[in-house]
Amino acid sequence: MQGKIAIEEHWEYPEVDTTGTWGFIDPDYFIDLKARLVDVERRLDEMDAVGIDISVLSLTQPGVQHIEDARQATDLARKMNDYAANVLVRKSPSRLRTFACVPLQDPEAAAAEAKRACTELGCLGVLVNGFTNLGPDEARYLDHPVNAPFWQQISELGVPVYLHPRMPLKSQCRAYEGYPGLAGSAWGFGVETATHAVRLMLSGLFDRHPDINVILGHLGEGLALSLPRVEHRLRHQRAEAHGPHRKAPMDYLRENFYVTTSGTFRTQGLQHTLSELGTDRVLFSVDYPYESMREISEWFDNCPISPADKRKLASGNARRIFNL
Ligand code: ZN
Repeated sequence: MQGKIAIEEHWEYPEVDTTGTWGFIDPDYFIDLKARLVDVERRLDEMDAVGIDISVLSLTQPGVQHIEDARQATDLARKMNDYAANVLVRKSPSRLRTFACVPLQDPEAAAAEAKRACTELGCLGVLVNGFTNLGPDEARYLDHPVNAPFWQQISELGVPVYLHPRMPLKSQCRAYEGYPGLAGSAWGFGVETATHAVRLMLSGLFDRHPDINVILGHLGEGLALSLPRVEHRLRHQRAEAHGPHRKAPMDYLRENFYVTTSGTFRTQGLQHTLSELGTDRVLFSVDYPYESMREISEWFDNCPISPADKRKLASGNARRIFNL
């Protein structure tokens, strides 16, 4: 299928290691991964081979989120966004677009950088790699009240925020002891990011800003299946145990979230997600270079959904959301 738009596609600045080292990854895969994160020509060739017209690029996890010093994070975010706009995108402006990274260590600075990136650099929105480090083992999530200026700015810009996974804090890895590979994208990413998304729902963020949209990868990190049970069980809890939200969590998932097919090859999962969210809120994505453009495209192109729905997922929804 030609003309696809993919929106969870990662890059890395050649001179700044933003991925860190993952001891549990196969070394050959990791070397190839690092090469593909920085190689724009190879990325464009692979897009051509599978019918992807546009890739929306984002700095790979944890990006600027793991930097403890707010000043350093702010400087690096500016440098990364400038590089993406002035070097990466210029290699093929009609095929490559970007999400901005923002220094949430300082929410006012994050708001200012989001505004600069989206109004001056042409970014289509913001991608946040999960929680933000405030210390080596201290995290702040996006529902924290201190982030109000950031969300206010996002609302004014009218752009989505892609909530992307990252590795959990060391102190949060007890459940993975003996199985370190589970902490990453195999399992821990989904748990961490789904929990973060539910925190946003319960915090009342979408009651204060009903216009804000958050994008989740990996078919919504499983929330289309698991959130009804969250909703069901919260009925029996004291209100103060689950935040000041006014609506049921599934209402927020349907009204304030988009989900993508990044890292997904499961037709039954896609069909279930479509049945819960509808065809306007699901978008094609790969998660390149962690996943293969060819593998996901072959699955998606042959997926038994109607041609009209497939066009919406492949590009129509992205064109509408990002005014492309
Ligand atoms: Zn990803």
